[in-house]
Amino acid sequence: MLAFDNSYARLPERFYTRMDPARVAAPKLLRLNVPFARKLGLDPDWLASSDGVAMLAGSAMPEGAAALALVYAGHQFGHFSPQLGDGRALLVGEFEAPDGQRYDLHLKGSGRTPYSRGGDGRAAVGPVLREYVVSEAMAALGIPTSRTLAAVATGERVFRERILPGAVLARVAKSHIRVGTFEYFAARGDGEAVKALADYAIRRHDPAAARAAQPYRAFLDGVVARTAALIARWMAVGFIHGVMNTDNMSVAGETIDYGPCAFMDDYHPGTVFSSIDHQGRYAYANQPRIAHWNMARLAQALAPLLGEDEDAAVASAQAAIDAFAGLFEDAYLAHMRAKIGLETAMPDDALLIEGLLAAMAGQKADFTLTFRQLAQHLGEGPMPDGLDAWGGEWRKRIAAEGRNPADISAGMDAVNPLYIPRNHLVEEALTAAEINGDLEPLDALLRVVTAPFAPQAHAARYAAPPLPHEIVEATFCGT
Ligand code: AMP
Ligand code: MG
Repeated sequence: MLAFDNSYARLPERFYTRMDPARVAAPKLLRLNVPFARKLGLDPDWLASSDGVAMLAGSAMPEGAAALALVYAGHQFGHFSPQLGDGRALLVGEFEAPDGQRYDLHLKGSGRTPYSRGGDGRAAVGPVLREYVVSEAMAALGIPTSRTLAAVATGERVFRERILPGAVLARVAKSHIRVGTFEYFAARGDGEAVKALADYAIRRHDPAAARAAQPYRAFLDGVVARTAALIARWMAVGFIHGVMNTDNMSVAGETIDYGPCAFMDDYHPGTVFSSIDHQGRYAYANQPRIAHWNMARLAQALAPLLGEDEDAAVASAQAAIDAFAGLFEDAYLAHMRAKIGLETAMPDDALLIEGLLAAMAGQKADFTLTFRQLAQHLGEGPMPDGLDAWGGEWRKRIAAEGRNPADISAGMDAVNPLYIPRNHLVEEALTAAEINGDLEPLDALLRVVTAPFAPQAHAARYAAPPLPHEIVEATFCGT
């Protein structure tokens, strides 16, 4: 059994709505993430039992759990929505894992809440399994993320463009406090709530900030640093979140709220997959700028806590936000250097990396495979297509480090994945699950993307880019 606590429920009542679980018609476990359950100190057998599945489906709450729908606001595509919230999700409770970390268990697709607006509170099996496979791939890549504990079929139908089978995703994250949670209270002029939320977030996510000379500024600095580090990691693997609204940005610096997310196949900085992102606001190359903008929204919400008077507060907020670009650039360069086999830092490295990306864009080179190929082209001989001129510079730079080529290529292969959840493979797996109830393709895909660096037997098709007729141009939120 799980020992739940819910510290969020001890915050003032205007932070959430307590929810009775909605009864789900016929919950059936689709997949339980057994290794992850074990890592969390949860008993997989109990989770797979009828009591466990009832909890994972949101039908029954275990002891100590006080299911809550959290309220928040958010800038959606740049426009402020003063009230959003868990419209189809519930925070079941918090528990402590054997590593001492406190986690939230959160259910998505568990039914309507006071924040559902026009929505039905449900999730369809396709988007639930997309989040499962992509979040687990992200975790295997070492990228901070919410993780998936289980996917449960509800036995209910969900009405979208088509009628789809319903599902609930049980996910685990360090936090469900978003930039938008702060914005919600700030926009209402509820300074007391902003302070209570910041104190709570500091206690739970940034205990060191409590001991700083200016705890709220230290907290803001921490969020800025974590977010810059996170986006640098996204960029280094070609991940596109798709809906970087401020309500989808965790203050714990984890990737959360997977919607129409995807990994890029051929490199193009303007790549967008989300069917709702008509302006390309959340295109691949815009992600750092958008994250920076989102941090400015957080700083604005926290500003009253940042100084004695308004001028001091604004100056402090500005200084915190201004750190973003440098933090991002340093982290990004560190990842990109490692990706091309460099251990030391030289002043022209940024130019070298830009040169590679420009050549890749011109060549429509596959983002993931190009870095794997480079590891095999350290020495003499022709470079991959279109990279000859760049390759000359790169080899000189590599040679200047004087390291053993076998070590260099092994180091590159340890940071450059061979397997990512490519969009066409994800679609194939989701379609099989949705239409035929066949989870084999999903299992096969999970097997490769959860061990993404070393070649696996019989897995060549999972490493290959899509053939022209397989390319998936658009992804859908499914909301
Ligand atoms: P998202 O962009 O998916 O993070 O969702 C934005 C907002 O819409 C959040 O407040 C969600 O809770 C809400 N929402 C999304 N889908 C649904 C749904 N099917 N029913 C109710 N609310 C939803
Ligand atoms: Mg969201």
